Amino acid sequence: MKRACFKCRGRLEPITYGGVEVNRCDHCAGIWFDSLEADLLKNIQGSESLDIGDPETGQQYDQTPGNLSCPRCNHRLIRMVDIDEHSIWYEKCPRCQGVWLDAGEFKKFKANFQPKSLGQFARKILGHKARDSG
Ligand SMILES: [Zn+2]
Ligand SMILES: [Zn+2]
Repeated sequence: MKRACFKCRGRLEPITYGGVEVNRCDHCAGIWFDSLEADLLKNIQGSESLDIGDPETGQQYDQTPGNLSCPRCNHRLIRMVDIDEHSIWYEKCPRCQGVWLDAGEFKKFKANFQPKSLGQFARKILGHKARDSG
């Protein structure tokens, strides 16, 4: 995929991690994941090292207004929000299911899917029960 970044017109460079190829912008460091690649990579240990960008730069580009088109199929991207431990706004292509994450967002995306510790979970449940009966 030899495409310009749709956010900053930098160049999207192919990078492979754990056998999965993604495309990272050489300027704003946003990352394009083809369908399911973000899901695959979030389960691979150390994959957050792909996300080398400065989160502040990412935030700046996160607010890019206007209609963005998919670097792979040119379909119009839609804005998605993932609210968990970290809330992330990202772009997704409804046609090819590709996902764009700005610099710093893949780390947060990955953190959202880390298994919560069982102890924490149990305390939460017990805490609620105690309040209900008290
Ligand atoms: Zn860029
Ligand atoms: Zn697409």
